[in-house]
Amino acid sequence: MKILLATSNKHKIFEIKEILKNYNLYAFDEVLKPFEIEENGKSFKENALIKAKAVFNALNQDQKNEFIVLSDDSGICVDVLDGKPGIYSARFSSKGDDKSNREKLVSKMKQLNIYESKAYYKAAIAIVSLYGEYVVQAYMHGKAISEEKGENGFGYDSLFIPKGFNKTLAQLSSDEKNTISHRFKALELALIVLKMIKKGKRG
Ligand code: IMP
Repeated sequence: MKILLATSNKHKIFEIKEILKNYNLYAFDEVLKPFEIEENGKSFKENALIKAKAVFNALNQDQKNEFIVLSDDSGICVDVLDGKPGIYSARFSSKGDDKSNREKLVSKMKQLNIYESKAYYKAAIAIVSLYGEYVVQAYMHGKAISEEKGENGFGYDSLFIPKGFNKTLAQLSSDEKNTISHRFKALELALIVLKMIKKGKRG
């Protein structure tokens, strides 16, 4: 079974490939000419489906028979910021790169004189194929802090301490992150869907 990842975020691709080790995974740009997808949904779930459907619809008929498309829409929701940046995590700052997004998060917390706040990451994984459309979702709870710690990972990892740990995600190894993360838990659920599709697949 060939899985086409509807993302060009190299960090997500790296993590998904580590977690779905036993699957035949292809990055979006290995199969299709990259194109812009407008993420205009109102939730992680809607945006994950928008991405997976856009990529599936861009495939020709042979490719539709060959590939199952899998997308990830994810982000961090900080309690003290009323759940922001949420679905806007990737484009929180006007520049939209990881470093300026983190700087904006820190400055928003400091403006409120808050140095840590409950927060969670959420990931929605959509699967679109000739065998239907599915979305699964999962969370990682913890706290956001206003001082960066650690070098690993990506995005907001250096500002997030998972529940039960005293280190940020950026201070954990990728193996450690990959057993507790929102993405790992959502992919575990996605595996159930993938196995079901494999069983019911014609040919
Ligand atoms: P998306 O590509 O629209 O789903 O945006 C995802 C954004 O959420 C990323 O660019 C990161 O800023 C943030 N994000 C999602 N998952 C993670 C994670 O595991 N670690 C750190 N940041 C994450």
